[in-house]
Amino acid sequence: MTASAESDPIVSELECLAYGTEADEGICLLLKLGTYRVLLDCGLTDFSALLTDATMPPADLVLCSHAHADHARGLLPLHQAFPQLPIYASEVTTQLLPLNWLEPHSVVATDFEADDDVGDDARSLTPLPFFCHALPWRTPIEFFDGLSVELYPAGHLPGATAFLLTYTPLSDDDRPSRSYTVFYTGDFFLSNGRLVEGMPLEELRGTAPDVLILEGSYGTARHPHRRQQENQLAERIDRAIADKQSILLPTSTIGLGQELLMLLRSHHHFTGRDLDIWVDGSVAEGCDAYLEIMPHLPTAVQNFARHQSLFWDERVRPRVRHLTPDQRFNLDQRPSIVLTDEATDLSQYYAAKPDAWLVLQAEQPHYKRRDGSGERREEHKDTAEFSSNANPQSELPHPSPLTPPSSPSVETYLLAQHCDGPGTTQLIHNLRPQHVVFVHGSPAYLADLAGLEELHNRYHVHTPVIGGLVELPIGETFLRVAAPEASYEGELTELNTLVTITLPEAIMADPRWQQLADTGLVEARWQGNELVLRGLPQRELLRPSDRLLDWMDANSPLRNCCGNCRHYRGQRCWNQRSPLFEFKVTPDGFCPVFEPAQASEEGNR
Ligand SMILES: [Zn+2]
Ligand SMILES: [Zn+2]
Repeated sequence: MTASAESDPIVSELECLAYGTEADEGICLLLKLGTYRVLLDCGLTDFSALLTDATMPPADLVLCSHAHADHARGLLPLHQAFPQLPIYASEVTTQLLPLNWLEPHSVVATDFEADDDVGDDARSLTPLPFFCHALPWRTPIEFFDGLSVELYPAGHLPGATAFLLTYTPLSDDDRPSRSYTVFYTGDFFLSNGRLVEGMPLEELRGTAPDVLILEGSYGTARHPHRRQQENQLAERIDRAIADKQSILLPTSTIGLGQELLMLLRSHHHFTGRDLDIWVDGSVAEGCDAYLEIMPHLPTAVQNFARHQSLFWDERVRPRVRHLTPDQRFNLDQRPSIVLTDEATDLSQYYAAKPDAWLVLQAEQPHYKRRDGSGERREEHKDTAEFSSNANPQSELPHPSPLTPPSSPSVETYLLAQHCDGPGTTQLIHNLRPQHVVFVHGSPAYLADLAGLEELHNRYHVHTPVIGGLVELPIGETFLRVAAPEASYEGELTELNTLVTITLPEAIMADPRWQQLADTGLVEARWQGNELVLRGLPQRELLRPSDRLLDWMDANSPLRNCCGNCRHYRGQRCWNQRSPLFEFKVTPDGFCPVFEPAQASEEGNR
């Protein structure tokens, strides 16, 4: 906390404490709203920070954004430590959560429903304690006096949720006081996937939460259009098969694996083709879990599934099947495609004939490791986020076995499940928060985002460190500073030959007005259905190509601007050959017939 914040009369009703902000250590944030404490996700691999007081739950309630391990793997131990602590998620998330604990686990027996005849080795059937409560979409639920939560789909994964929290402190005289709102996105994706629709931006536009907490997984990177990513991957696989290679696709239990299957089944490179796609390990169990949530999948997917099985189909080509033990040994007979969980030993598939295999790894955001992290790999494995393994070292099984000479070729592809940089800033500008808190990314990536001028000029941007408390003061003074997108209502008049737009004079009070009004000329440009106005500065009045000169050092005496031109006197241009002749021009103006002042005036001085 800074000294100025201490002397600030504004009371900080909102605070955020980060227990984990990166995918590999797990996401876990404690949000304080007045006297209430809400835990946002619990994907921690190291749980100790939450257990400082074994008698006191770390929060009043827990919200889980989605079923990926980096957000959810700590929920079961948290429930075991504090059975009375309520945990909430969307309905689909509650259905997918058990996939995090497929391996026989040490659930305390008292939590089981009385059902004694379940064998110890009944892997996926091991009953988990029912510990996560389902909440409906788009319905504000008041958990405590003055604290309510509303769920919105976040894209990224079926069931993935963004939470809008509203906190209204009780005032002393019982009159309603100001409300505070926090929007937490979890992992989000604005584009439509094949099995999940993108986050509904239209619906959320102008929500104007006081605080927006969101992921910055890809930093400021820009991705090609999703269809283009799909085509590139499909073409690579197609080429490999033509070269008589088999394809190994290690993937997360849910999310990417099912997207890949849908892509392979519906892309024109593969439909109708005599080809086997084998699904192994927990990815197959993830597929079965998707069949259970069918009513929640997009309508197009439900229609598809009316005519054929969503995943398992031996008749329709390409065939998609569970990989059976006997098939495992026949894999080298002819080119085929294998999807399996990334935590598994990949050599079991290609060992007999490595050079007949192509391993395609999902491209992930590149993470710079902190110092002192020993041997851990530089490359961040977000797709490892579904591994329930508590030891991150052992979550990285490959590519250590992929060393020559007996190694298959390994390549990466991009089929992003998170927003890229432009998508992330698009969400922020549409929501228009006061504070932006970036989590879920390497410190370098988050710093890249926080450093974007378009963000730090308009919002209070934070990138919390582990264990650090971020204060989020909200007040009228901040509102004025932080609300950059003032809007003005004007009038539009269509005349015979022109259109005039009249705006209130209040717009001139903005310091940016001077810049816009510099030359009295504006450029109007369509952007979608909206008309964008921008002032044309002097230097752009001539040819668009002159804008390139912006790149030159603005202060150089050698620069070809009016201020350095021999025809520039009394703030006017006196060159008859110039389009600016007799016009009043600013010293930084440009013109194609510039002539340097020094050369001709040298003799006069
Ligand atoms: Zn995720
Ligand atoms: Zn995540």
